[in-house]
Amino acid sequence: MSDVVPENTPVIEKTKVEIRPETPKPPLIPKPEDDNAVSKLAENLGAQEKADEVREALEEEKEPYKDSTVLEKLRRRKEQDLPLKIAFLDIDSTLSGNPKEAVKIRELLDEKGYVVFFVSSRTEEMTMSKAEYKKSVELGLERPAPKLAVGEDGKKIEAFPDEVEDFAGLYDADGVAAATGSRIFLRQQSGGYEEDKGFTQKMKQDSTEFRQRTMDILNRIDPKHSLFVLSPVDNSQNFEQNITDVESPDFRVQLNFQPSTAEQVVETTGATDAKVSATEGQKQTELQKKQETERRIRALLEDPGIDAETKNYVRNLKITDDSNPDKGKYSLYLTPLHGSKERAVDSTLEQLSQRLNADFRDFELFMAGDSWPDVAMGLYAGRSAKVDFFVALNSRLTTPLTETEIRSFAGQKLPLLSRFFPREEGVIDFKRPSPLDSGGQRINRERTVYIGDKLFPQASTAPQSVRQFIETKL
Ligand SMILES: [Mg+2]
Repeated sequence: MSDVVPENTPVIEKTKVEIRPETPKPPLIPKPEDDNAVSKLAENLGAQEKADEVREALEEEKEPYKDSTVLEKLRRRKEQDLPLKIAFLDIDSTLSGNPKEAVKIRELLDEKGYVVFFVSSRTEEMTMSKAEYKKSVELGLERPAPKLAVGEDGKKIEAFPDEVEDFAGLYDADGVAAATGSRIFLRQQSGGYEEDKGFTQKMKQDSTEFRQRTMDILNRIDPKHSLFVLSPVDNSQNFEQNITDVESPDFRVQLNFQPSTAEQVVETTGATDAKVSATEGQKQTELQKKQETERRIRALLEDPGIDAETKNYVRNLKITDDSNPDKGKYSLYLTPLHGSKERAVDSTLEQLSQRLNADFRDFELFMAGDSWPDVAMGLYAGRSAKVDFFVALNSRLTTPLTETEIRSFAGQKLPLLSRFFPREEGVIDFKRPSPLDSGGQRINRERTVYIGDKLFPQASTAPQSVRQFIETKL
């Protein structure tokens, strides 16, 4: 009697309803990497809360500092009442370009008891040997292998720094603050690098979201990209097509403000007076474009037509200048607010001092760099530690740091000149007011800045000046 099911019965309706989740899906934002073990446990337990607990426990186990070479080396020094020495080193134009010197620098720092951190615009995988990279992948690193070699056709070929002569001395440090300080990795005693995920969380978003939203902002302030050119590394296709050596950084977008082709010829052919004056005009144009880009990004905050969420995003955006005004090359890095060399160094120091139960004053930090992103690190990072900041030979910072009438760099203002106290040729004390900390002790805000061009004018390359500094001053 009820065999015949009439059309449009509730059963069919129900089926329709079940099929229906064709409602528009929210945009797909990949979750931060899921730990397989955690997902499996979640399935078995069938309870999200339980899985979260397990995740926390596992994260704790994977605590990146616990078995790091940094902590192990510093712990041994602490047991012997020796100062806790860390070198925070920029790579490009500080250590690069002279592999023999770079190797020597690493040996010297090791002899003198320093653990070594690279604090670089390079991405993390660029600073790992093949063996360390492979182990890091096993530990969860998700970056594709770098292509550091170049074939006869000019295309990039997969190769690691230990396979390319120019990279000698520039890999396998104890730690890396990569991509302009937007990610931190600690080398493990058992091999491989573990990410400091607590630091990555301070970026407040995942990489996909960061890159997408940054591109949205850029399209909004300059739809035709008439002011800037995206760095080639920021286009993933370039990596796939073997044009760039690494995949786009997770938390950094680079904008270039480039002179015309004609001007690039001038750059490489050396300058006569006439050419220089032509170049100066072009330089001015590029500088203005850079400044206009910065202005437009900031202006979004005042724009009543911009929604609150976008404004929040802009507030969490850090703009770092990496220009080389002498060459008329201007560039900006966009990172999350917390992604900077200065913050990366301070975060590392905090983590280490907690785990060593050491005061910041127990640390002796040696920092070296050559460009604007290194200034904030060299002048402000380091808490109350003793800090020596070496500005490498041929640095674009030399003039603004030593010639008092030049108060700015690529349109960026240097810190108050009144805080610089020249001690002797090439040695400057940098002093800021020293407030009291919560324990009533004065926070040391002084450090010494050393200028490579003044101290080692006979050196032939930046790394040679760094080596001479380590030999004679550390
Ligand atoms: Mg550099």
